[in-house]
Amino acid sequence: MTQEFGTVVIGAGIGGGTVVESLREAGYPASIALVGADPAAPYYRPDLSKKVMLEGSDPADSALRGEEWYGAHDVSTFFGTEVSSIDPAARTVTLDDGEQIRYGQAILATGSTPRTLGVPGEQLANVHTLRDVGDAVAIRSQFGKGKKVAVIGGGWIGLEVAAAARSHDCDVTVILHTDESPLSSVLGRELGQHFEELHEKNGVTFLKQADTTSFVGSTAVEAVETSVGSVPVDLVVIGIGADPTVETAASAGLKTDDGVLVDEHMRTSDGSILAIGDLANAQNILRGERLRIEHWDNAVRQAEVAASTITGGNRAYDWQPYFYTDQYDLGMEYVGRGSAGDEVVLRGDKSSGEFIVFWRRDGRVTAAMNVNVWDYGDELRALIGKEVSAERLGDEQVPVGEL
Ligand code: NAP
Repeated sequence: MTQEFGTVVIGAGIGGGTVVESLREAGYPASIALVGADPAAPYYRPDLSKKVMLEGSDPADSALRGEEWYGAHDVSTFFGTEVSSIDPAARTVTLDDGEQIRYGQAILATGSTPRTLGVPGEQLANVHTLRDVGDAVAIRSQFGKGKKVAVIGGGWIGLEVAAAARSHDCDVTVILHTDESPLSSVLGRELGQHFEELHEKNGVTFLKQADTTSFVGSTAVEAVETSVGSVPVDLVVIGIGADPTVETAASAGLKTDDGVLVDEHMRTSDGSILAIGDLANAQNILRGERLRIEHWDNAVRQAEVAASTITGGNRAYDWQPYFYTDQYDLGMEYVGRGSAGDEVVLRGDKSSGEFIVFWRRDGRVTAAMNVNVWDYGDELRALIGKEVSAERLGDEQVPVGEL
């Protein structure tokens, strides 16, 4: 017999886990199913490249809720299960074992999938991408003094993994496909250089303008072949970006364009299906534009909006993107959305390690980042979109709250 649920949540990451909690907190009375490819219950993914790899923390400590919570809240879980198709007309979801379940509402939270290079040897042992607990534990288990680690890509995963590997005394090479500093395409040259120097100071080597052409080894990887030479390795982590996991949504006929298109209430082009998190290309009413954001804070907040939509509330996608990183002794938070070409205004001395950066375009603040200075979160968030001169932004005599 086909099981029937009030809501079926497809994807059991931080977004899927939060939407289930939010529905129950809002008093949603109907049954809920939570289906996720990951065998683990939803967990706090940022911990993977931080606590799990750095401190060796038990991944179970990063769970949003213990498994018993779901049963106690009338949430049927299908962990380690993929959804193979959705039939919006029949309102059914087919699971990978052929079972069909029926929904009143479905919420897609399938996240994103790490990109791969598509070069020979990528299937060799010890060549990893980082997405789930299994990846993080496998990578961590290879760390050790003198182990040769190559990280391909100088984005957030690349740099956080490089820092974690250095904390375990690995020899780390970060392979970049351009001659720019890491993160330059996001933060601009000056801040990219700051991160490059931070990593170099901590013993990381950068290999630039190096296109990875293959991985070689008999069973496990032994070298990365690049356009500028060979890098001997024991372990490779590829962090070259991710793509929204839209295949199931697209084959169900939902409108997609760099993700699943949703309105400010997280509704897709089908009235019974919502989408949240990495895969949602959502209308942001504060910024007046569509955004697709691959950060946990966005997934959590969009989950809350989706729960509101389903329970008859009116919450909308109306906030600025936010994320943070910790690398060595640098901790930072970033709010807003700047681009590499924006004017950069520094407040404080970069060399002190404690400063704030603003990005500015057409006279307005597009983003702000506080580095090793705290308690400015709300004030910096309030500045995004505001017209403030570069002089005032950079003037430490003007309190941040008065900018
Ligand atoms: P990412 O932050 O988008 O960085 C990808 C990096 O790979 C970029 O530096 C990019 O350089 C480079 N790249 C692209 N193609 C390449 C190629 N063929 N060879 C070498 N380098 C290449 O993606 P990610 O680090 O893989 O992380 C995946 C997602 O997880 C991202 O959305 C990220 O924001 C998120 N994440 C966030 C955090 C955090 O918030 N702290 C931590 C981990 C992951 P160019 O830009 O020059 O093309």
